[in-house]
Amino acid sequence: MENRYINEKCAVVGVFNHENASQLAYFSLFSMQHRGQEAAGISSSDGHKMHTIKDRGLVTQVFNEQNISTLVGDIAIGHTRYSTAGDDSILDAQPVYARFDLGEMAIVHNGNFTNAKQVRRRLIEKGAIFQTYMDTENLIHLIAKSDKKELLERIIDGVKKVEGAYSLIFSNPNQMFAVRDPNGFRPLSLGRITNSKGEDGYIVASETCAFDLVGAKFIRDIRPGELVVFEKGKAPKSIQIFEPTPHYCIFEYIYFSRPDSSVFGKNVYKLRKEMGRTLAKESPVEADMVIPVPDGGVPSALGYSEESGIPFNMAIVRNHYIGRTFIEPTQKIRDLKVKMKLSAMSDVISGKRVIVIDDSIVRGTTSRQIVRMLKEAGAKEVHMRISSPPTTHPCYYGVDTPEQDKLIASKYDTAQIANYIEADSLAYLSIDGLLDSVGRDLNYCTACFDGNYIVPPVDAN
Ligand code: AMP
Repeated sequence: MENRYINEKCAVVGVFNHENASQLAYFSLFSMQHRGQEAAGISSSDGHKMHTIKDRGLVTQVFNEQNISTLVGDIAIGHTRYSTAGDDSILDAQPVYARFDLGEMAIVHNGNFTNAKQVRRRLIEKGAIFQTYMDTENLIHLIAKSDKKELLERIIDGVKKVEGAYSLIFSNPNQMFAVRDPNGFRPLSLGRITNSKGEDGYIVASETCAFDLVGAKFIRDIRPGELVVFEKGKAPKSIQIFEPTPHYCIFEYIYFSRPDSSVFGKNVYKLRKEMGRTLAKESPVEADMVIPVPDGGVPSALGYSEESGIPFNMAIVRNHYIGRTFIEPTQKIRDLKVKMKLSAMSDVISGKRVIVIDDSIVRGTTSRQIVRMLKEAGAKEVHMRISSPPTTHPCYYGVDTPEQDKLIASKYDTAQIANYIEADSLAYLSIDGLLDSVGRDLNYCTACFDGNYIVPPVDAN
């Protein structure tokens, strides 16, 4: 129960003033599937009524031509959910929809409220009844209970009572609102897409890869602390509801975002390559080849290889069709789990000294299995290089890291971890090296590496 009021890393999208709004939302969610595979949903608005479809599963499993065609209207908001905690029930899928005194409303949320338990306790004490374990549902109650007249004012009222990380999109039958928390932890970008009447339509999405797929033009990021109002016949209206205090999530660059996205104004692929270059400068080692752990380790392994001059080989192959396996291997055949996903080529590796690059170590399980797999494939030496600093602290702002005592780097030093994962050597990118790689022109949240929590995690205390 303790960790249930969370929402975690997810993708959100909102489409405004386009006759194919729900289809565009569908394709956008499809392009952002990497941000969440548990559940997907879309709510559309036709000017009078809202229509919602959501379910557990991948975007392509939840939606088909027939059910998408029932999501009529020229506004649509959508969500893909990633959460290992929370409840598995369909109620915990988004959009969160409610009817209240102002009519209908739907919300999608990427991020995590750090005071969700506290807010919910207070609401329950005042008689509120909840249907889900999602922190996002708190906001529905705060908006419904607000004594302000207009939805816009009530949204402002509501978000002023929540803390933490939120990139949110709201819609009612004829308006859409996009809001980003003052730190801008999670990304949220604004694009333009012309409708069939030649009018400006708008799209708001977690990642710009969504714009590329649907042919939208990137305008700008929604600013930290900004609320943008979309209304028919008007240009989007910007309201800066909080003083911006940017602390962008650096883990978006390391692991989470798609490499072709521009996140916080920077191309993710280029930054990952730069992290690999810096890692090669900081932690060189003599070896015959550099191998990425696909897909996350590929750009940084390319950077490491270019910088060190050691040849790059795709000597680990990933099966992209694995999805979720519902047959849990027994202890005895547990290795099967990683082997179903990743396979090492002994013809390439046998007798060689290899540098293997991954983006992060969380519990240490994956690295240990990969080192074993490479050794079984005949590698003479395996040197693990990680293109991020040791993950020592849990994230309260929407990345799904486990509790601190499950993070191997919170308990052990690098030599002990090298020993645990059975590698001949192990090195991480330093925090300084990471900041040099991504550029020091922006302010980042690095709490998962240094425990410097910008917003106090009220619920964790
Ligand atoms: P572990 O086996 O627990 O050490 O997990 C490390 C692997 O998980 C690495 O290959 C990462 O690419 C991947 N990873 C890192 N962060 C996350 C996350 N928040 N959710 C899912 N996978 C992750």
